[in-house]
Amino acid sequence: MNVLDLARPEIRAMQPYSSARMEASGGQVFLNANESAWAPVGDHGLGCNRYPDPQPAALIDALAALYGVRREQLLTGRGSDEAIDLLVRAFCRAGEDAILIQPPTFGMYAVCARIQNAGVIEVALKADFTLDVSAILAAVTPAVKLVFICTPNNPTGQLVPRASVERLAQALAERALLVVDEAYVEFADAGDASVAGLIDRYDNLAVLRTLSKAWALAGARIGSLLANAEVIALLKRIMPPYPLPLPCVDAALIGLSGWGQANAREHVAIVREQRERLGGALRRLPGVREVLPSQANFLAVRFDDATAVYRQLLAAGIVVRDVRRYPNLGDALRITIGTPAENTRVLAVLQEAATCA
Ligand SMILES: *Cc1c(COP(=O)(O)O)cnc(C)c1O
Repeated sequence: MNVLDLARPEIRAMQPYSSARMEASGGQVFLNANESAWAPVGDHGLGCNRYPDPQPAALIDALAALYGVRREQLLTGRGSDEAIDLLVRAFCRAGEDAILIQPPTFGMYAVCARIQNAGVIEVALKADFTLDVSAILAAVTPAVKLVFICTPNNPTGQLVPRASVERLAQALAERALLVVDEAYVEFADAGDASVAGLIDRYDNLAVLRTLSKAWALAGARIGSLLANAEVIALLKRIMPPYPLPLPCVDAALIGLSGWGQANAREHVAIVREQRERLGGALRRLPGVREVLPSQANFLAVRFDDATAVYRQLLAAGIVVRDVRRYPNLGDALRITIGTPAENTRVLAVLQEAATCA
């Protein structure tokens, strides 16, 4: 069996849109795409009067090198959010198929499934927020086409052990595609915690990466899907014709240059250091019940009175994420690691609130 047998047959059969950019090759005078012949004001040589390359070679090469995969194993689009949407559309028949997720986790998997009218099967994380591999496997029905796991998990912060990912990939072979979301993997303590290197071994394994977190490019919206070349080719058939705006590609290329990489590494190191510092200081504060161990750029923190803490921080101009609606996190807030000065402000507000209480 081929992994594409899991995909929607009508997607495999359809004739994809063929854009002017895809059909053109060579030439110096471009009169094939109804573009303006003149660059807009303030263009700075970017050439924004032209439609962008659907998958710019320089960016694909840089991302493939960064993630350690071959070009044909990588698709890049508007954030990993776009890749999640494409996967659900390509693999889940509306009203019939389903995805499987492990709450509390990132909300976009379920949102994309609901947009597609695919089912959402939930297998809760264990009480300590680790993955229950046996329970996941027991819950996989023939309708489940995609199993999402998020590592480090948002909003709890734990990393899923590589052995669990492998066990799932093996057990799901010929049954479902395993999608591993590694949005925060650059912040993990282990040097190379990514499972991207396993996609050659498991054709039903896909990995999501993004430039939105460690690479400081959330505003440029550049995310990647790493997977078997056949899965990538299938998704290219349904991807919007021009997903990547030229200024965003430009920003990503600068971010991935030697200079950009050094800068990103420096900031990831600061985040790790500050995660230790903020976590340690929070654990010593009265009113803090627990700081969940985190391998990401945030801390999930349980408070005696999360409502009051949220309000105190907000009154001081500090906005954190209220995650109390998530299962098993009814007393928690998620605090992103900021600059050392920003983290100091958070601690000062909480210390003062604790002394006044
Ligand atoms: C932030 C985040 C993403 C990144 O989404 P982009 O669309 O690439 O910005 C993906 N997955 C998780 C779990 C996240 O928290």
